Amino acid sequence: MNMESLLSEMKNCKACRLRAQCKQVVTGVGSMTPKLIIVGEAPGADEDHDGEPFVGRAGQILREVLRRHKDVINKDTTLITNVLGCRPPQNKFPKDECPSTCMALWLDRIIEVAQPKRMLLLGNSPLKYVAGLSGITSMRGNWVTCRGIRTLPTYHPSYIMRCDNTGMMQPREEFEGDIAEMAEEMG
Ligand code: URA
Repeated sequence: MNMESLLSEMKNCKACRLRAQCKQVVTGVGSMTPKLIIVGEAPGADEDHDGEPFVGRAGQILREVLRRHKDVINKDTTLITNVLGCRPPQNKFPKDECPSTCMALWLDRIIEVAQPKRMLLLGNSPLKYVAGLSGITSMRGNWVTCRGIRTLPTYHPSYIMRCDNTGMMQPREEFEGDIAEMAEEMG
């Protein structure tokens, strides 16, 4: 199985209730043979509309920081995706079996097919569903080995956006530092 066929299969997924309430399945963007996989939470309204991860406001924050390291983190080296392929209603991350179903069918297999050298987990949902860990505040910035892959948890860019809005600058510094560290490891 190659990544292209896996993602096109994912595009047609109707395995859980979420698909009936969103416009389309948002798969992944970037390299089909990635050295780095970046995992977010779930598509929001903009991603659901465009069919691409991280194109909305949180995405702008993430992409702006990634651009600073474009020599090593770019569409030829990196795949950006989410725990969930479908936008959940009211952007509320579901507490039922949908995330586990989606993981087993898609992200687990994406990681298996790609065998990336590194993973960057954005926030609590990928920390839980990809690494089986919890507590992003204490885990961020600490490398873990997950499925044999060097993995760095960091904050979700939506949290950085909320902190920016309240003048709390430390989380952004940590987020930017974590991404710089990832870039350095990849260089
Ligand atoms: N937030 C996410 O976690 N993923 C996206 O694709 C967009 C916003």
